[in-house]
Amino acid sequence: MEGPALYIVATPIGNLGDFSPRAVEVLRGADFIAAEDTRVTQKLLTRFEIAKPLVSYYAHNLRAREEELVQRMRAGEVCALVSDAGTPAISDPGEAIVARCRAEGIPVYTVPGCCAAVSALSVSGLPTGKFCFEGFLSAKTKERRTALAALSGEMRTMIFYEAPHKLRATLGDMAVAFGEARRIFLGRELTKLHEEGILTTLGDAIRLYSETEPRGEYVLCVEGAPQAVQETLTAEEASLSLSGEASARDNVRAAREKGLSRNEAYRAALLAKQAAERED
Ligand code: SAM
Repeated sequence: MEGPALYIVATPIGNLGDFSPRAVEVLRGADFIAAEDTRVTQKLLTRFEIAKPLVSYYAHNLRAREEELVQRMRAGEVCALVSDAGTPAISDPGEAIVARCRAEGIPVYTVPGCCAAVSALSVSGLPTGKFCFEGFLSAKTKERRTALAALSGEMRTMIFYEAPHKLRATLGDMAVAFGEARRIFLGRELTKLHEEGILTTLGDAIRLYSETEPRGEYVLCVEGAPQAVQETLTAEEASLSLSGEASARDNVRAAREKGLSRNEAYRAALLAKQAAERED
């Protein structure tokens, strides 16, 4: 391995068997390892017999440490960045230093592996073709509700990280924003001894957790909004399917049934009439 370089190294999210041989090789070959919590990473290094200097790089020293790490890489060293679990830079430290290395022309390489979000999505049973990652919702009630309200029309499967002590409040707020019938997958303690995956509705999840104490780490995958709710036609689009022969009243009703507002339905009926007149 030649420097300068930054390697973003994924670590297991619960099962050490998921640590890849290449990840071990890269950590052994790096000049130093930047870690979110050096104590957590030291345990991993000991288990895999990796002896390397550790530098802490975590939420509260990111800026100061970034200078130091970049200087060392500029001088030709190879830095491997790890977080406590999963992929660095995904709801974990890493984004800023990757951006900085990109800006400075320092090569950045991925050593892929576990990511709780993708792991949960892949076993959820929900649509996986299109999804969005929302990370952690705010712990502040108002901000959390505003964020969820803004997602009410989101058609892609939405992925959230959640802590057990916030789970009940989050499920309640999700039910208000998305409706109790919306499906949710709760991925708990993935890859660990007590791994659990529950595909249910928001209403049933609320009932379940009113009787059961939430424990462990959770990924929540919420089904996107149904197409019928989301796909509101424009008046122009709706007018194409209206008949110029029909009465304005019938056309307004037909446009309303397609989900248009009253004003837009009148406009669609008018456009259909105008189109029919042009054809005559
Ligand atoms: N960077 C990590 C990744 O790639 O998965 C995520 C780090 S984030 C600080 C930690 C959150 O990820 C937890 O609060 C939980 O929501 C989720 N998580 C991590 N490990 C998990 C697991 N084994 N089962 C379920 N969720 C997990």
